[in-house]
Amino acid sequence: MKVVYKERELSRTDLVDRTRYSAFLVSKMCDELLAAGLIRETGLGNSTGGRPPTLLSINPDIGRVVGVHIGTFNTRIVVTDLAGEALAFRKVPSHVEVGPEIALASLISEVEATLAGAGVELDQVRGIGIGISGVLERSTGTTLFWPKVPQWTNVPVKRRFEQRFRTAIEVEDTPRTMALAERRFGQGSQASEFVYISVGAGTGAALFLRDQLYTGADGFAGEFGHLMVDAQGPLCSCGNRGCLEATLSASALIHRAEAAVSQRLSTVLWRLTGGDPAKTSIELIGQAAQEGDRFSCSLLREAGTFLGLGLVGIINLLNPRLIVIGGSLAMAAGRFLLAAVEEAIRDRALVNQATELRVRLSELGEVDWARGAALLVINQALEISVLDRLSRQQNVEGD
Ligand SMILES: [Zn+2]
Repeated sequence: MKVVYKERELSRTDLVDRTRYSAFLVSKMCDELLAAGLIRETGLGNSTGGRPPTLLSINPDIGRVVGVHIGTFNTRIVVTDLAGEALAFRKVPSHVEVGPEIALASLISEVEATLAGAGVELDQVRGIGIGISGVLERSTGTTLFWPKVPQWTNVPVKRRFEQRFRTAIEVEDTPRTMALAERRFGQGSQASEFVYISVGAGTGAALFLRDQLYTGADGFAGEFGHLMVDAQGPLCSCGNRGCLEATLSASALIHRAEAAVSQRLSTVLWRLTGGDPAKTSIELIGQAAQEGDRFSCSLLREAGTFLGLGLVGIINLLNPRLIVIGGSLAMAAGRFLLAAVEEAIRDRALVNQATELRVRLSELGEVDWARGAALLVINQALEISVLDRLSRQQNVEGD
């Protein structure tokens, strides 16, 4: 089931190659899985001379999975089938500032409402994957601390969800869940040395080395946003000075744009916000840059240069083949960031490493971020679906 899922669609011959099981065994297993409705025949593959082979894929309707992407400002909730197709989506404010107890209770009821809206019963849910910002203890799914929201210290996110839902639950940090989406649904499927950078309210990275997610000895690898790029730079939410995130994150840019609106340094931003600094957003900064606003262009350019400097460090250290930049800032103004990023890399990275490197903007959106979180539990979801189907069959046979 896991091999079929991973390859999306393949023939029995392919399965023999991938598993190294005998053709007889593969054929017998496929017949059983087909009879149980766990996989299905989805068409014909390319012929290698004889009859074209029948292709198999998993039956996406054997269960449902939930993905929850908890950002600093907004939470995205998706219900998918086992192939990752979104069946329902909802975006709600995270309200992390009210404290973890109330915020999590409210998010859990939003998950219930999303499931109810999609007509999904709780016993169809095979797993819930949660992506959350902040620094996480992965083994227990506990948010250790979240620099931007100090109340979130030692919050057992996984346990809170387990108390409500009797299903597989996994928690991971958001750059990693977004990177999982990029690997399954986006541009990251081919490169084995792949770095995903998320620039939104915060800045983080997910590193894939030799095709495996690299998490570090204690799970904290990828805190890209707290790489120091300027010893004299602004104070960061983590308490240090000159972190990349202090210059680059959406909140840092919004802060500077707000000042520009109140001081009328940008006529375009002033018009777009109606002169109200509180209305400043990343989307409006991106729009102002589109309209050629000098202030916004140079703000984004500077952010892109800092991002590029950080990336030069990663490139020289890890020699990735592909870097994908995603997150809300990339979505709103990526084009302006990318030009400066590419220039910084051209100017500073070691030449022979930079030649084969591709730097791309993510083309995925918010629904996909939540779909990425759902991927955390997909293997468990497949197992649970198989066991569930088999035990039901046995019960029928037992009767
Ligand atoms: Zn920092």
